Amino acid sequence: MSPAKKSPKKAPAERTLVILGASGDLTSRLLLPGLATLLKNEPERRVRVIGAAMEPYTAAQWKKRVRDSLTTAKVDKDVTDTILAATSYRRTDVLDRAALVDLLEDLPADSVLYFALPPQVSMQACEILATLELPAGLKLALEKPFGFDKASARTFNRLLEKIVPEQQTYRIDHFLGKSAVLNLLGLRFGNRIFEPIWNNVNISHVDIVSDETLALEGRAGYYDTAGALKDMIQSHLLLIMAMVAMEEMADVNEVELRDLMAHVLRATRLMGSPKQASRRARYTEGKVGRRRIPSYVDEHGVDKDRRTETLAEITVEIKNSRWAGVPFRLRSGKALGSARRGIYLHFKPVAHNLEGLANKATPNCLKLGMSPETIELGITTNGAGDMFELEDTLLSAEIGDSHVRPYGEILAGILDGNPLLSVRGDIAEECWRIVEPVLKAWAKDDVPLQTYPAGSDGPRGWAT
Ligand code: NDP
Repeated sequence: MSPAKKSPKKAPAERTLVILGASGDLTSRLLLPGLATLLKNEPERRVRVIGAAMEPYTAAQWKKRVRDSLTTAKVDKDVTDTILAATSYRRTDVLDRAALVDLLEDLPADSVLYFALPPQVSMQACEILATLELPAGLKLALEKPFGFDKASARTFNRLLEKIVPEQQTYRIDHFLGKSAVLNLLGLRFGNRIFEPIWNNVNISHVDIVSDETLALEGRAGYYDTAGALKDMIQSHLLLIMAMVAMEEMADVNEVELRDLMAHVLRATRLMGSPKQASRRARYTEGKVGRRRIPSYVDEHGVDKDRRTETLAEITVEIKNSRWAGVPFRLRSGKALGSARRGIYLHFKPVAHNLEGLANKATPNCLKLGMSPETIELGITTNGAGDMFELEDTLLSAEIGDSHVRPYGEILAGILDGNPLLSVRGDIAEECWRIVEPVLKAWAKDDVPLQTYPAGSDGPRGWAT
């Protein structure tokens, strides 16, 4: 399923995308390449990109930055030329009221203001926006992290309500633009064989994992104040869990999808106390492949007294009749020995094992892999050449990946005024509500901060 692939019948009107913070990493590494994949897939789309940041770029310097970003992302020449022909730069301090007024007064109706800014700066810029007259239909796209805890997310939501209606606010979580996550809906609801067994009668536990081999990679400025729980679990993994566990939609639209996701999240609690339901760890010196990785605390820009975790795990339960009693384990970490990204549904064993066979059936496991996007189903069959022995067989397939990168999918939704793949305000607050007891327990050191050598599978005793 890919909303961006539904090409509109007539050419859509030109839209203006203003990127605030256009000299930053997100813009060059993810936003512009994402936009390029969208324009390649939908050449009839017309998007004017206005970059805005503090840097005093000339027009030529800005175009060079855009070209460099697209070249690094291996974008075709024709798409690169299209973007370059329709982009300009405005030096803007977004905390300067007069500069913001200047920027906004030239914008046509239905423009998008994309906040690719440090989160504090986004909030401050929004406080100014709340006092200004805005172009009709202006849409706001806000990057993660959305707030720092439940209270700040709520305060930010109240502020945004003063600027534009919720329908025009797009809280970004690019995991919702990933094909594996979108295809989850097709797999569950488009196949007779899965939906009837998608419940606590048949499923024993669910793992949602995003482990990477990458270490800090120079991102201490952001990561050291966030950590694995806030960076990955509070947003991305809880949203994926909501899609795994939600009820069926009557129709694929933003009201249905987001209502059903919110419904699951509202029913979600830690499974036990924070001490029982969470674990955290931090990497020490080690080797990932051939790369020597310093201990996290020795990385440039890290404050060891913050005790930031680089591996986190929480176990939650969804308190409804479909899922009660099923642990959902969400885990994410850096500098691990192997990258593992996927949703694992572990089924219960069969009620009765056939007698007269040499061994028992292995419980089924359905794995939906993210990068690479795969589906794997572990089943039990009779052993080759020996019908009295059972053996494990893996059925596997690659899922057709979208030509449009996740950021392209997300941008398509914003430009078309469809918030299907963006995070609604109440959902952002629910995600913070779920992790808040863990954050409090960790701040009080109630849960030990363990260690693991970079390149390992995590601390000893953690099942993977
Ligand atoms: P960077 O620090 O690389 O860039 C921040 C940008 O904000 C710079 O262009 C900077 O401009 C600009 N800026 C800061 N203050 C002002 C101001 N007062 N007026 C105008 N521009 C200002 O950050 P990233 O690009 O990495 O991240 C941006 C957002 O995206 C953050 O919220 C981050 O959490 C989120 N994000 C980032 C990801 C990534 O991989 N980078 C992934 C997912 C989310 P100048 O340099 O001119 O001062």
